[in-house]
Amino acid sequence: MKRIGSCSCGDVKFCVKGSPIITFFCYCKECQVSCGSDRFYGIWIQPEQITLTQGRPKEFTRKSEGSGEITFKFCGNCGTKVYGDTADGGVIVAGATLDNTDGIEPKMAFYTKSASKWAVLPTDIPCFETFPDFN
Ligand SMILES: [Zn+2]
Ligand SMILES: [Zn+2]
Repeated sequence: MKRIGSCSCGDVKFCVKGSPIITFFCYCKECQVSCGSDRFYGIWIQPEQITLTQGRPKEFTRKSEGSGEITFKFCGNCGTKVYGDTADGGVIVAGATLDNTDGIEPKMAFYTKSASKWAVLPTDIPCFETFPDFN
């Protein structure tokens, strides 16, 4: 399935195809700050599943507690974070930027120990206090 992603102002557009490796909520503090919300909805895919179709996103690199460095791409005009490259060669798409997320609901939650006291944690998927060890 092909999904179209876009920033708020529409300068940056991209296309994602195929099934995600993992879909998740992240409650870490960095995600809270960059999303302006209690959590980030991430869609983890392989680099060959994403194509930038319009615009030239800016980028910044941040260290993440569990998964190494992530280089996030964001629109230089409206500031929307659209996706990021992980240190191990994956790509994390900001789920909110996709036109359609039917069938790719979050399957787990990370860094719940960093969640705000008032955050509503999911009860129907596995929740991890930090980043789980997948190995
Ligand atoms: Zn934009
Ligand atoms: Zn996070």
